[in-house]
Amino acid sequence: MTVLARLSDPYETIRAEAQAVAAELQPIAVTADARSDVDPEVLAHLRRSGLMRYTVPAAYGGAFPQVDPFAVCLVREQLMAVSSHADSLFALQGIGSFALAIAGNDEQRQAWLPGVATGDVLAALALTEPAAGSDLKGITTTARFDGASIVIDGHKSFISNAGAAGFYTVLARETLPDGTSGLSAFLVPANSVGLTTTSAPELIAPHVLGDVVFDGVSVPETARLGAPGHGIGPVLATLAVFRVSVAAAAVGLAQRALEEAARHAGTREQFGRPLVRLGPVAGLLADSWADVAATRLLTYEAAQLARDDPRQHLEHSSLAKLAATEACCRVVDRCVQVMGRWGLISDSRIERCFRQARAMRIYEGASEVISLGIARQLATEVG
Ligand SMILES: Cc1cc2nc3c(=O)[nH]c(=O)nc-3n(C[C@H](O)[C@H](O)[C@H](O)COP(=O)(O)OP(=O)(O)OC[C@H]3O[C@@H](n4cnc5c(N)ncnc54)[C@H](O)[C@@H]3O)c2cc1C
Repeated sequence: MTVLARLSDPYETIRAEAQAVAAELQPIAVTADARSDVDPEVLAHLRRSGLMRYTVPAAYGGAFPQVDPFAVCLVREQLMAVSSHADSLFALQGIGSFALAIAGNDEQRQAWLPGVATGDVLAALALTEPAAGSDLKGITTTARFDGASIVIDGHKSFISNAGAAGFYTVLARETLPDGTSGLSAFLVPANSVGLTTTSAPELIAPHVLGDVVFDGVSVPETARLGAPGHGIGPVLATLAVFRVSVAAAAVGLAQRALEEAARHAGTREQFGRPLVRLGPVAGLLADSWADVAATRLLTYEAAQLARDDPRQHLEHSSLAKLAATEACCRVVDRCVQVMGRWGLISDSRIERCFRQARAMRIYEGASEVISLGIARQLATEVG
């Protein structure tokens, strides 16, 4: 099916590179996407491919001087079209390490980021807690200076790559010298004494996910990312670069579902003609193609704005995420309908798309939550 958005280099080359890697992953995608732990074959494949270098700055083995959200989007679009497991292993490298890349000291960056770029070290971002989801002000994990080091206590839940990551970027509440408290960010190696992980409940679309418990975990002051009480800064910067990439993953998944449904509708005949020539089915397919094409263009535009000035354009990334993830669920639902009973067969491509689409409307900012910022931005722009 025609890809509407034309790209200039290096982006066309990146898209082709990611597409080739995704095609090679195709034979192992069903098994990999059913796993809640890291599939060693997929990881080895991603390592060999060199794609993970797009998640890290060039000074530490990455591809571009600064992480380029557009490049990340192009890779995610292609990987997600084939395997959600591969997509999330790729994306987490950037999501988990970006705070370190922009707010860590050079020694920490040298220690961790080259391994992230090759895929030898997996990264994770630990924000969510049992009582703190959309509202990070509810974080109760604590960090306190004991005179020699920072001691962290608390419980993070639903953390991607928990148990597999080499380090966690952790947001914790710290009491500051003036007696107030604020959220501070820290880099915590996974092998720290007192850090344990447990698996999370199995999701409708499996994901490498778990809880991380910090029981008196001690890290040096140099593990801090950003100023004391201002750890939310590097976290927001992470979202500014990576939120739009969720939109790209949604576009890739929707495109794949649409291709499956269009193929089916072109060959299956009912009432003496292929389904595609029955008006309502044609409408479902046409509306879906319009959704995919429109959200791809919106996503690419938001990714290029984010590349030029990520913080300035967070609301554009949010808009792309909102539009693309909501459209993806609509498209996949229509595609299941077009496929009839074949759309319901467990672990068929279309059924996997149906399950995999859903979480994207919840993580990295639930649709309703990001709508608040988008509406505020709209009101500002119209004056
Ligand atoms: C597959 C997956 C991977 C994840 N990986 C990570 C990870 O790596 N690291 C991490 O820290 N977390 C991770 N999470 C957790 C994720 O960030 C949270 O699920 C998300 O922030 C939403 O929080 P919640 O689930 O507690 O929902 P809640 O905050 O309880 O919200 C529930 C619903 O209420 C509505 N709502 C909430 N607040 C508002 C508001 N202000 N206005 C309007 N409506 C609102 C929304 O509809 C929302 O979906 C992951 C989650 C999933 C599903």
